[in-house]
Amino acid sequence: MNRSEESYRRLWELDQRHVWHPFTQMKQWMAEPPVIIESAYGAILRDITGREYLDANSSIWTNLHGHRHPTITRAIKEQLDRIAHSSFLGLSNVPAIELAAQLVAIAPRDDRRALTRVFYSDDGSTAMEVAIKMALQYWQHRGQPQRQRFLAFTEAYHGDTLGAVSVGGIRLFHDVFRPLTFPVQRIRNLAELPDRADDVAAVCIEPLIQGAAGMRLWPAGLLRDLRAWCDRSGVLLIADEVMTGFGRTGKMFACEHEHVVPDFLALAKGLTGGYLPLAATLTTEEIFNAFLGEYHEFKTFFHGHSYTGNQLGCAAALANLRVFQEERTLEKLPALAEQMRRRLAPLRDQPGVLDVRQCGFIGAVEVGPFPLEAQMGARICWVMRDHGVLTRPIGNVVVLMPPYCVTPAQLDHIFDALERALTVCLSAPAR
Ligand code: PLP
Repeated sequence: MNRSEESYRRLWELDQRHVWHPFTQMKQWMAEPPVIIESAYGAILRDITGREYLDANSSIWTNLHGHRHPTITRAIKEQLDRIAHSSFLGLSNVPAIELAAQLVAIAPRDDRRALTRVFYSDDGSTAMEVAIKMALQYWQHRGQPQRQRFLAFTEAYHGDTLGAVSVGGIRLFHDVFRPLTFPVQRIRNLAELPDRADDVAAVCIEPLIQGAAGMRLWPAGLLRDLRAWCDRSGVLLIADEVMTGFGRTGKMFACEHEHVVPDFLALAKGLTGGYLPLAATLTTEEIFNAFLGEYHEFKTFFHGHSYTGNQLGCAAALANLRVFQEERTLEKLPALAEQMRRRLAPLRDQPGVLDVRQCGFIGAVEVGPFPLEAQMGARICWVMRDHGVLTRPIGNVVVLMPPYCVTPAQLDHIFDALERALTVCLSAPAR
């Protein structure tokens, strides 16, 4: 056994003995040799044995410009030489202030609304918790405490903390926790919006595309029509751009496609380019102003986390935005999306493929009909892994969303692996 095999065995054993992985059936996990990542560069992840894989889902939809990008790596190291973290409670810090100003500058705005205030938290779930809690408290300050009801879409996914689970609609993930959540009116489409909404605080949506639902696209215009309904009924609009933000749909933010400015914009994942956990909930001056008052009025937003406004995360996020400018990232996206479109198109005709979907540089191939127990999506991904490509399915949907630094040859490699895996798995589905 050479040294890398030795350390692989040691870590595998420790992982088996002590680690509990997220969204993972651990019995199945413990029966398989795991991929243990040690390093990475660009779109490539390298495991501890030296094997390389293309990161075809951008490390669960977080990475944008590739791993170990010199600009982001340097920014984090330089920040580390100053300070890693100080509290944001009663103190401010340099990168958090700079980042807030830059996020406000790039956020969607129109004549009616601008997102001028930034509240930091740690991940996508907490960005949504913040929006939900702010919306509820806002209506109390505005003298409309009856506005307590939230609307959300069936199949929505907004994260795993309890507020985010409450507005979530994926039965497999969320039903077990229902006893702990608040009631939410779940709608499938805009026809199900209530006629009377004077008790509704806010409606949550993943703009353009529902991610964890299996990359399901909304009909064009739905987001714009929802904004119009919110304006008519006085309901606040919470746009969850945790997955769609930062270029994934072809524009900086998905809301821009339909010229929509939400009342809350939840950002995480790509905010730091996929380097560190950081989230931001952006909102309007109107919402912010409602929380202003004398100390003794206790209009304060009583919410915050130990690592709110963390300097390392904010430095990474600033560097991420710098890369967007220096590398003209948004201008590169149409060519990437076009190559993805070309490679996805023929898969539509493959027997066993139910649907092929794309939104910007997000691709999805749905196979079926197979019962979830058949784990067909996972099996396809296992074969792709054997061909040096890592991604994670959502049920029977294989997700393809590599970092924007992926080369044309690498993107072809990802689709070649997918094609081979589909051929192997769909021609012998009962294997
Ligand atoms: N919102 C959306 C749309 C997401 O896709 C996710 C995660 O996939 C979340 C929220 C939760 O983000 P996190 O896992 O960072 O808590």
